[in-house]
Amino acid sequence: MKLNILAFGAHPDDVELGCSGTIAKEISLGKKVGIIDLTRGELGTRGSAEIRDKEAQKSAKILGVSVRENLSFRDGFFVNDEFHQLEIIKKIRKYQPEIVLCNAIDDRHIDHGKASKLVSDACFLSGLIKIETELDSVVQKAWRPKMVYHYIQWKNIEPDFAVDITGFIDIKMESVLAYGTQFYDPNSKEPVTPITSKNFLDSIKYRAQDLGRLIGVEYAEGFTVERCLAVSSLENLI
Ligand SMILES: [Zn+2]
Repeated sequence: MKLNILAFGAHPDDVELGCSGTIAKEISLGKKVGIIDLTRGELGTRGSAEIRDKEAQKSAKILGVSVRENLSFRDGFFVNDEFHQLEIIKKIRKYQPEIVLCNAIDDRHIDHGKASKLVSDACFLSGLIKIETELDSVVQKAWRPKMVYHYIQWKNIEPDFAVDITGFIDIKMESVLAYGTQFYDPNSKEPVTPITSKNFLDSIKYRAQDLGRLIGVEYAEGFTVERCLAVSSLENLI
């Protein structure tokens, strides 16, 4: 299946927190979008890998993505090496996205920066024809996405551009809250962590609102890029 956009996250819920408003908007515009989680988030303080699998699928339905897969890398301990790069290359070649979205370039959780570089490196390597991969015993064609964009997570990284997600903040929040074990729940008996605070849950919306304020819309999500941005016409900027 060919996709327009493939979003990667180190953990299930990274994509929702970072860019699910953008994903919902692109799907509403007719784009085909997929999500690939690198780990099952098994080291998360709350919940379990099995529960998070279900939460991730629930969120996928809410967003309307065409596919959601999990590479089952080791949460906390995966590295940027040949094995992990090849597993990601196989997915990039399978879905042939023009645009890849991936983790923040630097963040509080060590997996985020690692995943950011790992996915970006795999996007480059995927375009080299002498790297041979197979899927279901069929040799895959080389494919390099045109763009790699990094969403923003815990840290307030200055975005290089912002996407207007006005009209899609509710579906973003719904997709985040599909992870019932991960965020603010006053009735939970499990340990409290920074991401289970009410402040963090509130921040998802007010940060989108604040970025929206800066670009003159209601809500926005920010991204950073690896190369100079270009537009075909000045009118394409809002
Ligand atoms: Zn994460």
